[in-house]
Amino acid sequence: MSVMINLAEELQGVRTAVIAGHIRPDGDAVGSCLGLYHYLKMNYPEIDTKVYLEKIPDAYKMISGTNEVCSEAGEQREIDVFFCLDCADEKRLGDFAVFCSMAKKTICIDHHISNGGFADLNEIAPEASSTSELVFKLLDEDKMPFESAEALYMGIVHDTGVFRHSCTSPETMEIAAKLMRKGIDCSKIINKTYYDKTYHQNQILGRALLESILLMDKKVIFSAVRQKEMNFYGVGPADLDGIVQVLMGTEGVEVAIFLYEISPQTYKVSLRSRESVDVSTVASYFGGGGHVRAAGCMMQGSIYDVVNNLTLHIEEQLYPQENERD
Ligand code: 5GP
Ligand code: MN
Repeated sequence: MSVMINLAEELQGVRTAVIAGHIRPDGDAVGSCLGLYHYLKMNYPEIDTKVYLEKIPDAYKMISGTNEVCSEAGEQREIDVFFCLDCADEKRLGDFAVFCSMAKKTICIDHHISNGGFADLNEIAPEASSTSELVFKLLDEDKMPFESAEALYMGIVHDTGVFRHSCTSPETMEIAAKLMRKGIDCSKIINKTYYDKTYHQNQILGRALLESILLMDKKVIFSAVRQKEMNFYGVGPADLDGIVQVLMGTEGVEVAIFLYEISPQTYKVSLRSRESVDVSTVASYFGGGGHVRAAGCMMQGSIYDVVNNLTLHIEEQLYPQENERD
């Protein structure tokens, strides 16, 4: 499937462009934003292009341009076009949501099923593996710099779990091959940005696995990390990336729930599912969103409250007949 937006047309007469991705950026948010950023820098030097992202995980810093990323929205100014990438709604932009009202034109490129299309122009493709895949299709391959290829490859690798998840299509692999032909070091990108963990990251992973519990006929696995444990191991939220995926790898499990405390009684929830549960619906019920197999939200209360509320909704999908009878 090709993209609908014609980038060259949309950039006609543009003097200032801003690119931003979602809060607590993951590999795809960083990859898609930097992929587009390098392309605009190289092919449209007359446009003043800036890219905004919250703190980027250290592991992604091997990707060119991470040191050029602005982390604060700054003051009011003129923006001709604002590209909002990998964001299902304005709320997910955090402080960068101000760009939506400042910009003369907003363009959203995303693959979240929960995206209702909040920009002037929306390229939403829930079947796409990643926003990076969509950005690739938006760009002219012959004019794509090496730096864009590296960034987009990282985005695709992260959102497909290294070409493992069901969102990986033949087209995803074809795009990855085209990026590979740009001469990028694929193994290095995969190892350094996805698999390599610091000692402390592995310690907190170990702790989360040790403390995990199986619920609902062992179909659901759950684990949580509290602020005091994060302080003890000297880790932050970005160091917890990938824990939910390891939990999900437990044999027989249909849904994995991972929580971490961001402030007292407030938890960031990550949900993953194998086949039978649409976790995007579950997360949307609590004000979050995402994809059918990977979603998230914020929830208040004790860990016990959060898990009880989540499992109620998961149960409805795991045992539909029993819930109908009730
Ligand atoms: P993760 O569990 O890795 O944080 O997120 C899984 C997926 O759900 C990602 O695609 C992410 O963008 C989305 N997601 C995570 N948290 C939220 C949230 O609070 N709101 C929305 N709309 N999407 C979320
Ligand atoms: Mn994504």
